[in-house]
Amino acid sequence: MAEHYDVIIIGSGAGGGTLAHALAASGKRILLLERGDFLPREMDNWSPAAVFVRGRYISKDTWFDGDGKAFQPQVHYFVGGATKLYGAALYRLRPGDFGEIKHADGISPAWPLSYGDFEPWYSQAERLYQVHGNGGEDPTEGHRSEPYPWPAVSHEPRIQQISDDLAGGGYHPFHAPCGIMLNEADRPRSTCIRCAWCDGYPCLVHAKADAEVIAVRPLLGQPNVTLLTGAEVTKLETDDSGRTVTAVAVSRDGGPEVYRADIVAVCAGAANSAKILLNSASDRHPRGLANGSDQVGRNYMFHNCKAVVALSKEKNDTVFQKTLGINDFYFGAKDYQWPIGNIQMIGKSNAEAMRGEKPRLTKLSPEWTLSDVAEHAVDFWLTTEDLPVPGNRVTVDGDGQVHLAYTPTNNEEAGRLYHELKKIMNHTGMAEHHVLGKNFYMDMSIPVAGCAHQAGTCRFGTDPATSALDVNCKAHELDNLYVVDTSFFPSIGAVNPALTAMANALRVGEHIRQRIAP
Ligand SMILES: Cc1cc2nc3c(=O)[nH]c(=O)nc-3n(C[C@H](O)[C@H](O)[C@H](O)COP(=O)(O)OP(=O)(O)OC[C@H]3O[C@@H](n4cnc5c(N)ncnc54)[C@H](O)[C@@H]3O)c2cc1C
Ligand code: SF4
Repeated sequence: MAEHYDVIIIGSGAGGGTLAHALAASGKRILLLERGDFLPREMDNWSPAAVFVRGRYISKDTWFDGDGKAFQPQVHYFVGGATKLYGAALYRLRPGDFGEIKHADGISPAWPLSYGDFEPWYSQAERLYQVHGNGGEDPTEGHRSEPYPWPAVSHEPRIQQISDDLAGGGYHPFHAPCGIMLNEADRPRSTCIRCAWCDGYPCLVHAKADAEVIAVRPLLGQPNVTLLTGAEVTKLETDDSGRTVTAVAVSRDGGPEVYRADIVAVCAGAANSAKILLNSASDRHPRGLANGSDQVGRNYMFHNCKAVVALSKEKNDTVFQKTLGINDFYFGAKDYQWPIGNIQMIGKSNAEAMRGEKPRLTKLSPEWTLSDVAEHAVDFWLTTEDLPVPGNRVTVDGDGQVHLAYTPTNNEEAGRLYHELKKIMNHTGMAEHHVLGKNFYMDMSIPVAGCAHQAGTCRFGTDPATSALDVNCKAHELDNLYVVDTSFFPSIGAVNPALTAMANALRVGEHIRQRIAP
């Protein structure tokens, strides 16, 4: 006899971990199924060679691109999911992102809910994930019902200088919102030590506001919450009507197990949530669970991104660099009709992680060693919105393996963002011919492999013909199945997705809590 719970949550990342946190106080029996284990605390956490060169924390999964070519996706299976490695840049979508936006390559569709609907949940998520920021600096940001819970992370001198130069040039640089447990007013007691090993690394001292540390760990030991690690969900089964999920099939330590619950929430990340639903096809759901609309797996997005390094004559001694953002081009530019995107900083380059870039980078300044290059580098991350295109999709083959077909959109806009960055660099003492794209994350020669910001495979909406989920992220076609991760995004905007996944999990958590209340 399989064990029965009130709620089963599949996946413990930004969506699932936060949902578990939201539901735990209900006292209901919650089972959190996570295919990964706890990420080990070890010196490798902060080793560029281990993290970026050897890929110590990347899953061994093999996926296949649209041509059937195998690749290793940059996904991370741990308690806390991708947030264990994330840069903790916790942005709200802009109010305009919730409406329809015309792009060079097509339409970014409107969401069924507005920024106003999400605002209270954003505030709650910012409190939970201890977001540091400074409201009012970024002209594109929406109304806030409360200030950031923590003051913005301060700029170090080189970044402050860049910020001042940009402001002097008429731009609106702002302090980037960030989820780290840094108390600058009391550094001796601050959990975060403000180190250089944050963006893309796990935090050795558990000071990053990730879903494990913030949402899941505090639940361990609560009698109504059970976490099973190493528990990979393979399939969901329904009753004869097809309306109710009755069994969650799990592969655990190599053996099959079955669990049951009144409510099942799939939160395995956009690609893996689609994989679970597609692999759960049955007579009642021949195209896959919740997929009468044929939308499951489609509209995969992951941003049109570029990592860029700019070299200046001055040294850049910055330790924690991810403190500045620029949204002046988010919705366009004076002489350009399309939205362009967001510019933010990323973790500071270091020679060890840049090894693979050596020939290109040292060409900029032939007399410099790679260490010189790293010492002078200022690193940016450029994000342009990509569009939900039906043909950009996750499918599964006869063996249940993920195939990810993806053709980029809005390359012209992304090119324009790069152009704007080079232009604004002229205000900062960094000549535009000293700006270069770089492969930020190991081998990005297969672009689909860099799926950090994956979203959109089960979009929510009001019309069951064009969406998989309703506005509460419940499958239109089932009574007890929810999808609560970045899969629900109908469009992705041009800012990082995690805070929206967290805010949405709190929103859906409240809906489920009311539903299961006695
Ligand atoms: C290097 C890196 C840097 C990033 N930086 C930022 C940033 O600065 N800001 C930002 O907003 N976002 C950032 N992101 C993206 C952000 O982490 C994700 O958007 C977010 O974690 C997605 O949440 P999710 O719940 O959809 O998926 P995840 O957080 O990935 O959680 C999915 C969970 O499901 C588990 N799982 C998968 N399949 C199964 C299965 N079959 N059975 C059981 N469990 C399963 C996984 O192990 C995982 O724990 C970054 C990501 C990476 C990789
Ligand atoms: S900067 Fe702070 S949160 Fe980030 S890795 Fe270092 S100690 Fe951890």
